[in-house]
Amino acid sequence: MNSNAQKTSLGSILVVDDTPENLRLLSTMLSQRGYTPRCVINGQMALRACNSNPPDLILLDIMMPEMNGYEVCKNLKNDAITRDIPVIFISAKDELFDKVNAFAVGGVDYISKPFQFEEVLVRIESHLTLRKLQKQLREQNILLQEEISNRLAVEEILQEKNQILQQEISSRRAIEKAIQEQNILLQKEIGNRQRVESALLKSNQELARSNAELEQFAYVPSHDLQAPLATIASYAQLLEKRYKDQLDSQANKFIGNIVQGCTRMQALIDDLLEYSRVGRSHKPFKPTNCNQVVEQAMANLQAVIRDTKAVISSSQLPVVTGDMSQLVQLFQNLVGNAIKYRQDAPPAVSISACKQQETWLFSVSDNGIGIAPQHQERIFQIFQRLHTQKEYSGTGIGLAICQKIVERHGGRIWVESEPGKGSTFHFTLNENSINL
Ligand code: ADP
Repeated sequence: MNSNAQKTSLGSILVVDDTPENLRLLSTMLSQRGYTPRCVINGQMALRACNSNPPDLILLDIMMPEMNGYEVCKNLKNDAITRDIPVIFISAKDELFDKVNAFAVGGVDYISKPFQFEEVLVRIESHLTLRKLQKQLREQNILLQEEISNRLAVEEILQEKNQILQQEISSRRAIEKAIQEQNILLQKEIGNRQRVESALLKSNQELARSNAELEQFAYVPSHDLQAPLATIASYAQLLEKRYKDQLDSQANKFIGNIVQGCTRMQALIDDLLEYSRVGRSHKPFKPTNCNQVVEQAMANLQAVIRDTKAVISSSQLPVVTGDMSQLVQLFQNLVGNAIKYRQDAPPAVSISACKQQETWLFSVSDNGIGIAPQHQERIFQIFQRLHTQKEYSGTGIGLAICQKIVERHGGRIWVESEPGKGSTFHFTLNENSINL
């Protein structure tokens, strides 16, 4: 068979018949009609031929020696390679032909001899078409299955992606919700802060106004009180001097109380005046050597230092820009308190300063009675005292003056202390203090 014949062939037909006459006839006719016939004369040969090169269709004689057509067909149907080849049985007229058996063993059709060749051709053609269609169907089925499984795989991937997307969406929603909640809280917080800020601003303004009023209030009457107070004190002293012998001891004690009260009131007035003077001062700031400031303060405290045998030590101190007399007052009040609030041992006070960027941190430490933590803030407020006059005399204005001086110089003041273990008052002064 040449390649041309193969190309134009309508199909390969294996003709199995033990009668050479039949074989020749069928072979010739099939060739003439464009088929490619192959002829074998018994069942064994048919099986071999089908196995080595499966034909498109088999015309199978039933009555053959050794292996009849039914057996050949059964064998073909049992083999995966040959199972799908359509088998058309050919039966002789006088043969006892069992049609039911022919279909039962897997035949697709039968032709009885003598046959009309046209009929044979029609049957061959229709079975070949059927076979072709079946084949196409199978192939399409396979493609379809592949397509389905591909689509299923894609669908699965899509579902997975969808799930991930859903998770992503829900986690984004959760984040969005959390952000929204945070935003609401933040808005609230901002609102609160704004309210607090404006309240703070208001109270600051109020404080500044009442401070100014207080200074004014403190200054004017304090100043005016001095003269009548001096009159009372001097007349009480005159009474004591002139009439001491004419009065009984109780009257003398009363006069003593008046003098004592006047002295205390004088101290209060002096301190109040001092307090109001800090805010009223308009002296320009100058470079001020703190060593000289401390020296001056110590000179002012000379008597009490001598009386209490206090030891005051000071490290090298810097030059700052400020009001000399106010800085003297500051150190004097702090060292004065360090001596006043002493324990049994002689007071030991040390003064030092260390640089912190643009700021100088000053420290005044003592070995005195110390201050409990709950009082450490309020002692800087005016008239806040922790002791009675009998225990320690004072007006409760000294530290308020210190705070005012430090703040006027752009710094801040605080205390670190432990009861019974002494106190350290810290304050900061800017290297280039601005005249506030
Ligand atoms: P005053 O000394 O006139 O009472 P201050 O304003 O100077 O007023 O001090 C307020 C209070 O702070 C004092 O009554 C005292 O209890 C406490 N205090 C101040 N300095 C010291 C110190 N160095 N050690 C212990 N307590 C102190």
